[in-house]
Amino acid sequence: MSLEVIDRHSEALFEFLWCPVCGHEVFSHIPFEGVFCRNCNTQVELKASREDRGYEDAVLACFDTQTTWNLHVDEKLRRDLPDGSARVKILGAPGAYTVDWWSPEPGEAWEPVERGAFDDVDEPEAVAHLA
Ligand SMILES: [Zn+2]
Repeated sequence: MSLEVIDRHSEALFEFLWCPVCGHEVFSHIPFEGVFCRNCNTQVELKASREDRGYEDAVLACFDTQTTWNLHVDEKLRRDLPDGSARVKILGAPGAYTVDWWSPEPGEAWEPVERGAFDDVDEPEAVAHLA
């Protein structure tokens, strides 16, 4: 992992980013260990993408579930990644990021958990969203 990239992008990018395993959006940076979802401990690595298509930032966020806690406990509302990892490409600039693509491509086999999807499963809107 490039710490430079983390430092440069951390704040605005991590505000945009969420965890595709549990839907939470708070990440912890543990020095010399990496960056992890605070809720489920999925690791995320940020890498600058060479193909920026003119955007200020073009970043690959690579998620890995090797470190994820309680991945197979259903009640924890977690969804494993295909073969334990997935990447998302983010384009834009601080405050105006968009997801360019996920890899593997979301489909019938797998979809990233939406941001906040499991935050409050009692909320009607969230439940409807899950359906
Ligand atoms: Zn998570």
